[in-house]
Amino acid sequence: MRALRFFYLLVIYLLLQFGWWSFLLIKQNNEIYNYRKELLQLQNGGFLRSEDHKELQEYLHRKWLMIAGEGLVFGTLLIVGIYLTRQSFKREFILSNQQRNFLLAITHEFKSPLAAIKLGLQTLGKHPLDESQRNQLLERALQETNRINELIENALAAARYEDESLQLRNELVNFSELVRQAIENKKSLITRSVQIVSQIEPDIFVQGDSLALQSTVSNLLDNAEKYSPDRGRINVCLSARGKQVTLSVADQGPGISSQEKTRIFRKFYRSGNEELRGVKGTGLGLYIVKKVVELHGGKVTVSDNVPQGAVFEIILKK
Ligand code: ADP
Repeated sequence: MRALRFFYLLVIYLLLQFGWWSFLLIKQNNEIYNYRKELLQLQNGGFLRSEDHKELQEYLHRKWLMIAGEGLVFGTLLIVGIYLTRQSFKREFILSNQQRNFLLAITHEFKSPLAAIKLGLQTLGKHPLDESQRNQLLERALQETNRINELIENALAAARYEDESLQLRNELVNFSELVRQAIENKKSLITRSVQIVSQIEPDIFVQGDSLALQSTVSNLLDNAEKYSPDRGRINVCLSARGKQVTLSVADQGPGISSQEKTRIFRKFYRSGNEELRGVKGTGLGLYIVKKVVELHGGKVTVSDNVPQGAVFEIILKK
């Protein structure tokens, strides 16, 4: 912010300087005009001939045009420069804020599952437990380990997709099977009373990278579950029409406001303030979804569910 203040000071100084030089130039111009006029009058015995007067006027006019033209170019360049610099400051500021939030989120994301695993292991080591209690603790520890694993996978994927030269695999993928598996997987990990209902057309094949597509579908399902209310319902629908494959994931969560509909796909973007947020996350999921879908030549959109919630739709080519 100090740099921005300095920049504004510089701009003010530049504008003052510009105003001052313009004033001096106009003044000097008028003086030259008057000197020339007097000179011509002296040469003609105190009179100014009409052709001399016309020439003088034209001279003055040309000078005025020159000053105005140069001022216009300078002013336009200055305004464009100020606008671009301001935009880049703003972008820098938003990015650094998001990175700070990302760090906070990632530390929190690692801390809580690690604490749960540690507690589980300590309990297992210290207390005599029956079989079902032991299994419960082990199950929980496994779930937490999966969470850490997903987190690392997402961070690695985001870093990978940054690389513009990245080449994805190009294999024939049974997308119907991939979505079905992702739903089964999700169902087995859900600990809340959230229901997933699916309608999947069988044997829809797409050309692409199965691992990347898997992470895309999982990310959408993860979000739908995370932002669903208790006893919420998630509808997953996969269909193909002509050459177009459409996957939609609809939930009954808080939905996404129209201002945020484009922002949520940015890297590290999470709505609200990190310290105030209850739902866990890093702001990488939808960034990865968008990158993968675009690398497959498709697109991802978000709209409002009725009466409440969000619908994410992925469109891929067959
Ligand atoms: P994360 O969920 O880890 O914060 P994402 O990139 O997956 O990161 O999502 C970015 C933001 O988009 C989230 O912080 C959340 O505010 C919003 N969002 C994503 N999915 C949903 C959803 N299904 N319902 C409501 N908001 C969502």
